[in-house]
Amino acid sequence: MRPAPESSAGGLAGVNCAAPRMDYLPVFLRLDLQPALIVGGGRVAARKVAWLVRSGARVTVVAPELHPELQACVSRGECTHLPGVFAPEQLKDVAVVVAATSDQAMNAAVSQAARKRNIPVNVVDAPELSTFIFPAIIDRSPILVAVSSAGTAPVLARRVREQIEALLPTRLGRLARFMGVRRREVQKTLGFLARRAFWERIVSGTTASRVLAGDEPGASAAFAGELRTSQLTQGAAGAHGSGEVYLIGAGPGDPDLLTLRALQLLQQADVILYDRLVPDAILERARRDAERIPVGKAVGDHAQQERIHELLLHFAAAGKRVARLKGGDPFVFGRGGEEIELLAAHNIPYVVVPGITAALAAAAAAEIPLTHRRLAHSVTLVTGHAAEDTQLDWAALAAPRHTVVFYMGIAQLPVIVAKLRAAGAHADTSAAIIERAALPGQRVLRADLQHIAALAAAEHAAAPALLIVGAVAAFGAADVLTPIAAPAAAARALA
Ligand code: SAH
Repeated sequence: MRPAPESSAGGLAGVNCAAPRMDYLPVFLRLDLQPALIVGGGRVAARKVAWLVRSGARVTVVAPELHPELQACVSRGECTHLPGVFAPEQLKDVAVVVAATSDQAMNAAVSQAARKRNIPVNVVDAPELSTFIFPAIIDRSPILVAVSSAGTAPVLARRVREQIEALLPTRLGRLARFMGVRRREVQKTLGFLARRAFWERIVSGTTASRVLAGDEPGASAAFAGELRTSQLTQGAAGAHGSGEVYLIGAGPGDPDLLTLRALQLLQQADVILYDRLVPDAILERARRDAERIPVGKAVGDHAQQERIHELLLHFAAAGKRVARLKGGDPFVFGRGGEEIELLAAHNIPYVVVPGITAALAAAAAAEIPLTHRRLAHSVTLVTGHAAEDTQLDWAALAAPRHTVVFYMGIAQLPVIVAKLRAAGAHADTSAAIIERAALPGQRVLRADLQHIAALAAAEHAAAPALLIVGAVAAFGAADVLTPIAAPAAAARALA
């Protein structure tokens, strides 16, 4: 076997001999073109064969008969079939062996023969007969993470793998390759000391966030800029890369509804500027030592928006990674558009991460399909906070087969209802108010258009809440506070 060390320093630097014993030494085997022998031709064997084939081994399967999956593998030329039973001579020159038959005596014989010849052997589901085990794998090749419970708790190992899986960006492998092909260039351009600091800035800065977001041209440009700067400032103390901003949609407030990218960038940010609608449960997911600054504002507070702009520029200029964390989605009534205009004008790199907007969270919470083949062919998201003086097209909003979701509309409920009615909406059009969607204390109030404002007043409905108007609003679980029976209204709408 040819060893392929991660680096000359060794990946296990810092381990001392007096530390507690480990059950296994985690290593990565290079099997490219090495002969591997699998004893057994069933489904379990097929899974092991697949891993070995993926790692480039020349796989031979010894078995009287093959499972169709293995048969297919042979037809594709990915492995070879040796019909018959196992014999120790088959181990000649073999680099690894796996025993995966249902015959325990046979498995034990394979194990014994392999150990006698010092060939690494794995016996499926028998750690005591194995000299190596297959870990649970997170594959972001060339980055690989292997997780093992040393055979004690495979389900727990798989859970750990899922948790790590969620933390690692899908394009991590792309990033590793992106860096790999540029190593030589960096080696030629920068001295030894500057190199490490340079790569640190690459993995935690704009270049990496661009690659991970799927923008390789943007990443290449950022990389070239960073390399130029590093070359100019080589040796200069305190030189830092440019900062950047992550405009992150935090969703409706339940941390489970964050996107994976939101979570990854949140854990990377040095500074977090967060809105009023972002709860502690989400802030707790950020890096522990990140600076947290609340920048929540009341509706239409222009001074506060200016302060946010100042903070964004200030921290980015200081080389910080700034997470601008907004409720829902940054581009739905979130002033995200103004913020990226500002950042672009100042040449500050940014990444926009979408979030689950309140309309979608509320619809899911109240089981209201926003579109429906027969009931609603379109949906409008509209702000209700200035219902009285906006130039909204009320006739379009009141049209049948259409769903309207009003954000920030609770205070203006009577005005909204009056405008819709005046524009032709029927008094019995279904409506629902979803208060605190996906948050503790979530509440759904349902009534028809004619009664919804009175119901909201009687129940003291309060922000954050959304109003959904349209036939689809009759859907969903019946609620104690429902004056009209939801299923009946839906049936009427469907008739
Ligand atoms: N960018 C946000 C909207 C900000 S405007 C988004 O995409 O969701 C603020 C309004 O959003 C609130 O007045 C309310 O109408 C709505 N909202 C936000 N979070 C909500 C929640 N959890 N439940 C119900 N409505 C919510």
